[in-house]
Amino acid sequence: MSIEEGAVRVEHLTWTHDVEVRDCSLGKGVFALREIEMGEIIGIVRGQIVDDENESPDYCIEMDEIYSLNPLPPFRFLNHCCSPNAEFIGDEPDQADRFPEVYVVAIKGIQDNEEICVDYAWPVEDAIRCECGSPECRGWIVANEEVHKVVPGD
Ligand SMILES: [Zn+2]
Repeated sequence: MSIEEGAVRVEHLTWTHDVEVRDCSLGKGVFALREIEMGEIIGIVRGQIVDDENESPDYCIEMDEIYSLNPLPPFRFLNHCCSPNAEFIGDEPDQADRFPEVYVVAIKGIQDNEEICVDYAWPVEDAIRCECGSPECRGWIVANEEVHKVVPGD
């Protein structure tokens, strides 16, 4: 996925000052420290590239079939929501040996002090129960197109 010109405003890029990690009902979460407009880049996800998918913790962001990004705070603590207000977008690397930068981009207007959430969109084999509390909650943390494949266990 690439960032479409005009869809995001890079000049507003500040990547740690506009958010804060706080305790919340799910443990920790990322909260906006100001009003954020739809389409704004909230920050760049920094972290470690890991290549062993069996060792990748749940919160890793898939870069391709092999590599994942193990994010550092603050975006390590982004929680899932079935109706998210942000999403991860990777840029188009200008060099073949570089991984895409991963941005957190607002897909809705976000209020000051509102929690910032993304849709983890996990594959069905990784699905766990979702407690996001959204009226549109799918009941599972799973990709929208795979939710019909979830077979509830015990
Ligand atoms: Zn949910």
